[in-house]
Amino acid sequence: MKFDGLLMIPGPVHLHERIIRAMSRQMMGHRGKEFSEIMRYCVDGLKELFGTKHDVYIISGSGTAGLEAAIASFSNVRRITCVDNGKFGDRLGRIASRYTEADVVRFEWGKSIDLDAVEKSLAEGSEALAFVHNETSTAMLNPAEELAKLAKKYNALVIMDGITSVGGDEVKMDKWGIDVAIVGSQKCLGAPPGLAAVAVNDRAWDYYNEKCPFYLDLAAYRKKLPDMQTPYTPAVPLFFALEEALRIIEEEGLENRIRRHRLMSRAVREWAIEAGLQLFAEPEEPSDYSNTVTAIRMPEGVTDKDLRGTLQKEYGITVSGGQEHLKGKIFRIGTMGNVCKRHVIATLAAVQDILMRYDACKPALHAAIEVLKEL
Ligand SMILES: *Cc1c(COP(=O)(O)O)cnc(C)c1O
Repeated sequence: MKFDGLLMIPGPVHLHERIIRAMSRQMMGHRGKEFSEIMRYCVDGLKELFGTKHDVYIISGSGTAGLEAAIASFSNVRRITCVDNGKFGDRLGRIASRYTEADVVRFEWGKSIDLDAVEKSLAEGSEALAFVHNETSTAMLNPAEELAKLAKKYNALVIMDGITSVGGDEVKMDKWGIDVAIVGSQKCLGAPPGLAAVAVNDRAWDYYNEKCPFYLDLAAYRKKLPDMQTPYTPAVPLFFALEEALRIIEEEGLENRIRRHRLMSRAVREWAIEAGLQLFAEPEEPSDYSNTVTAIRMPEGVTDKDLRGTLQKEYGITVSGGQEHLKGKIFRIGTMGNVCKRHVIATLAAVQDILMRYDACKPALHAAIEVLKEL
């Protein structure tokens, strides 16, 4: 018999049954009142998660569509500084360089950002700063508030990829001084892939570039927002799902949700350390570990296929591998969205079982259980 699988990757996440059901209904016109009410609920809910009172535009497209919409729409800048300490930081630089001069400040993947190096780039004449809050490829949390503060010193526009932090970790866009932030539906929000949301404050419009891609021109989304509509036909079933996902978030409460995410990732880290495994990220502060995903070095003598292949085949559980030069060198466990204690314990037990066949780890489930007692 084939059982349902369990996705423990950093997006798309395992879906709550209610969200699966929400998508399965008749279509509606996207210019009617019924759709506008759904959209209003989504926009208001997302504002809360971004920590903003400003506009939130919802685009039908993956997270990268949101990144490109944000960067291209506000690319009327002489130069943009992009912070790169992982795959998604690298992506910001590659998007930005299509629209303006990008100065990519690179750091070793898995290491903390050196704020002095970022400041040097800003001081050399950048008018914008783009960075990733939660760097999913290495499982590190970058210091968003400090970066925004630094940018403000140079009066630079601040664009933040919050794709794997918004809805799972603390994000206070307005308070931190972030001008533009982006989230994707399939990560901490717990919805299926296919929607991106971009939160934009008023200041960002001073940097508006009308030569941005037509479909991703945020001015068109801005114009339609008072009617609670999108400029073009949205992915309507995904709005049904997003609405339900946001209802689940409201029921849980954002504070509780953040606490749950923090405990789940801490449980994975403490299990890994107790098991004798090595975390990939080596942040300067323990608070710079990601609260939504964990990256663990693949133990000596174990291949990606040995671990992830067997996990998939025997347990139906999927965890992620490494990206780019980290392929086969690390594996990543996503603990985001609506996964909970039992999913985490089941995943760790299965990973441990497989690694123990290679004498590559020690039994350590008690360490995770201890942390998750608080849930
Ligand atoms: C997943 C992810 C993206 C890209 O999102 P897509 O939905 O795959 O386009 C961008 N940034 C971060 C930090 C991510 O985790």
